[in-house]
Amino acid sequence: MKTKCKICSKIVKGRSDKKFCSSRCKNYYHVNLRKVTTKATAAIDEMLHRNRSILLECLGKSTFQKKIKRTVLEKKNFKFQYHTHSLKNKQGKRYYWVYDFGWMPFSDDYVLVVQQR
Ligand SMILES: [Zn+2]
Repeated sequence: MKTKCKICSKIVKGRSDKKFCSSRCKNYYHVNLRKVTTKATAAIDEMLHRNRSILLECLGKSTFQKKIKRTVLEKKNFKFQYHTHSLKNKQGKRYYWVYDFGWMPFSDDYVLVVQQR
């Protein structure tokens, strides 16, 4: 079966796994894909970026960990449910990361904010 270009529908010549007729169509596809992705993820990205800024502000550039009151983060409108990934350490404590900054539930009132070294 002949493959049609995903952009202009011309028959694609060459290797059977090629999806585009030319580098122009391929570029168009990828630029467009990136635009669509940027638009779809903008709102959550903004929240993640804001969360990171709040953690950086609380910790400072040169401190690597600090206990901080939950209410301090809440007042700054930190969104606890938005994080990039979470990891359990060897002691079974789960850390929630926002890029290179993280936090761990320390007690009812405090979280431990950490920065990746
Ligand atoms: Zn094409």
